[in-house]
Amino acid sequence: MSAEVLPGFATLAVHAGAAPDPTTGARATPIYQTTSYVFANADQAAARFGLQEFGNIYTRITNPTNAVLEERIAALEGGTAALAVASGHAAQLLVFHNLMQPGDTILAATKLYGGTVNQLSHSFKNFGWNVNFADTDDIEAFAAAVTPQTKAIFVESIANPGGTITDLEAVAKVAKAHKIPLIVDNTLASPYLIRPFEHGADIIVHSATKFLGGQGNSMGGLIVDGGTFDWRGDKRYPMLCEPHAEYGGLIIADTFPHFAFALAARALSLRDLGPSLSPFNAFLLLNGIETLPLRMQRHCDNALLVATHLAQHRAVEWVSYAGLPEDRYYALAKKYTPLGAGAVFTFGIKDGYEAALRTVSKLKLFSLLANVGDTRSLVIHPASTTHRQLTDAQKIAAGAGPEVIRLSIGIEDPRDIIADLDQALAA
Ligand SMILES: *Cc1c(COP(=O)(O)O)cnc(C)c1O
Repeated sequence: MSAEVLPGFATLAVHAGAAPDPTTGARATPIYQTTSYVFANADQAAARFGLQEFGNIYTRITNPTNAVLEERIAALEGGTAALAVASGHAAQLLVFHNLMQPGDTILAATKLYGGTVNQLSHSFKNFGWNVNFADTDDIEAFAAAVTPQTKAIFVESIANPGGTITDLEAVAKVAKAHKIPLIVDNTLASPYLIRPFEHGADIIVHSATKFLGGQGNSMGGLIVDGGTFDWRGDKRYPMLCEPHAEYGGLIIADTFPHFAFALAARALSLRDLGPSLSPFNAFLLLNGIETLPLRMQRHCDNALLVATHLAQHRAVEWVSYAGLPEDRYYALAKKYTPLGAGAVFTFGIKDGYEAALRTVSKLKLFSLLANVGDTRSLVIHPASTTHRQLTDAQKIAAGAGPEVIRLSIGIEDPRDIIADLDQALAA
């Protein structure tokens, strides 16, 4: 028996999910800019509405351009199915809508994107969903934070803003011990650096807005189903395990066990909440993903050069970059992300808040803005912007204290990036 050789990552990044258009032969994936699809006849229409036949009905739920993006990210992450939505936050909303009932709790890491801390701790409260934050660096304390109400565990693989590395296998052990799905936000790593399903994740979410699209031009979010969690008969998750009258009494977990989560996210949560992705954005995100391996390697190589330079700079108090041998996350970086520790990291400036504001204002090549994962180098001062709604204690816990500057290193010539930092720090 000869094992079939699976295509490599760079091949999947270009080809997965795509084929020449069957009608026109178009080689690039066309933008199917249509809201709806003609049924062959009334029987087919009824079968599609009843989920007895898969096929397009309406672009809120499926679209052929978006479907290519979904297949591509599922292939790159090694999942069974995926769902594309309007933004990273929409992806998170749909994931939790699938899992949570009023009174349930999410156990989340403390080191998270600031917008996610807001989403979890404020807006989700209005749905009756509670959140409990615990630091994954203290895995015993994290495990002790699980309660009978905990329905989901949520962490970032490489965490915003400090670029710290999460010990995914340790967290997965906690999740498995309690039969709770582990959701990993893989935005800052991208599947080029870390493939969380290989370390025990059950569901992956992405802000495709960042490195996947990679060029700062389109919002998008992705949910990837690992097909690993057995939802069947688990009454804690009624969306997946209870019959749905509108689909003829279908129990999603029983009928589609390998991609139940992605299907429920589409056929229930996206259908009813509605944050669908524009096919035009799906097209741009697909174009971005084709060069993901090339860009990501250059991002990482540049980031290591910049972090090494800053660590020796006299105006700099500390650098938090897991790619530096002296960093406390270096061993985890070697294990989980051997190709590079990502391109988003923080450093602390001597003289604190005022000096940090002065420095970000003086940068010229860097753009001062609230995004990461662009070809261009980006900078922000989290304490006064992305993390300003957090309490001082939450800011420090999230790695966003007053002296902290966050960089997202682009793919420009590294000498120019370093020269820009030097002139701003000399001021
Ligand atoms: C940006 C970001 C999000 C939110 O994604 P949007 O596309 O902005 O909605 C979530 N998680 C991380 C790690 C992010 O960087």
